[in-house]
Amino acid sequence: MKPYPINCVSIVIPVYNEEESLPELLRRTEAACQQLKHEYEIVLVDDGSRDNSAQILEAAAEREGSSVVAVILNRNYGQHAAIMAGFEHCKGDVVITIDADLQNPPEEIPRLVEQAELGYDVVATVRNNRQDSALRRWPSKLINLAVQRSTGVAMSDYGCMLRAYRRTIVDAMLACRERSTFIPILANSFARHTTEILVQHAEREHGESKYSPMRLISLMFDLLTCMTTTPLRLLSIIGFGLAALGVLFAFLLIFLRLIFGASWAGDGTFVLFAVLFVFTGGQFIGMGLLGEYLGRMYSDVRARPRFFIEKILRNKPATAAPVVTVDGLPSTTTDQVSP
Ligand code: UDP
Ligand code: MG
Repeated sequence: MKPYPINCVSIVIPVYNEEESLPELLRRTEAACQQLKHEYEIVLVDDGSRDNSAQILEAAAEREGSSVVAVILNRNYGQHAAIMAGFEHCKGDVVITIDADLQNPPEEIPRLVEQAELGYDVVATVRNNRQDSALRRWPSKLINLAVQRSTGVAMSDYGCMLRAYRRTIVDAMLACRERSTFIPILANSFARHTTEILVQHAEREHGESKYSPMRLISLMFDLLTCMTTTPLRLLSIIGFGLAALGVLFAFLLIFLRLIFGASWAGDGTFVLFAVLFVFTGGQFIGMGLLGEYLGRMYSDVRARPRFFIEKILRNKPATAAPVVTVDGLPSTTTDQVSP
């Protein structure tokens, strides 16, 4: 791993109805960034807030010599979409995301930059003394485990958005055209060297969590579909299994009917069952096939880059002889026969 030279650091912050937190957030983030020896910008994305957040951000951006960039969205698109909007309009070599509610202290920013400078593509954080209720802690433990299994990248805290991403990773994420996404997992699919550091975590001081139970469920589905199409694949595997069992059972019923006679088979009722099982099996196979097509379409529609080349190293010849080409064919100047 090589050290990564950084000129500019961007901080991207999604904001949704956070007017009470904003003044302190701006002050503390600015103070933390001034400790950096790099150029910096603070990109705040207003995600369609219904309070005065957008006005506060606009005022902060218009201040003379301000390092704040305000990106105002027309309506609420969700935390991850807002962060993507911020990614699109930041210029840093390292981009740090942080929540606006001050649950992640901005004072940790220099530590993240330090790690990114060492050469990590993604610097994640683990909440040291997580202040959420057990009801929120347990589901997230479960999610972490599932993600770890399916992406192979071992990270222990996907819920914590205080993270640093190298420019190449941000560009790769921007190249993904999918609408619903879960940024930390998407980033991991493009990262090579990742690390985690422990950070402090505070309780929310102002306002409430912007995630209602319904939105949490939707976020969990985003997370699941972002990392894998396995559930669709399961549909076809289970479908084929059930169909095979159904057909076997139907054959068994017909066989027993032939041996023990019509009265054993409830005068035709069992054969009716057998026919039903065969049809249900056929339906499951059909659903599985649909699932397979859907999975492929989903992969194509979201048009993720097929691969992500980190860099290309090529050994140039020591004295590169200029090759002159004429109409695509190399022309030799020495062996030319003069008329
Ligand atoms: N957020 C957003 N759009 C939304 C919901 C949340 O931009 O639709 C922002 C919110 O302002 C905050 C961050 O995302 O900066 C995390 O939200 P929250 O603190 O409510 O999530 P929790 O910490 O409860 O998981
Ligand atoms: Mg929060």
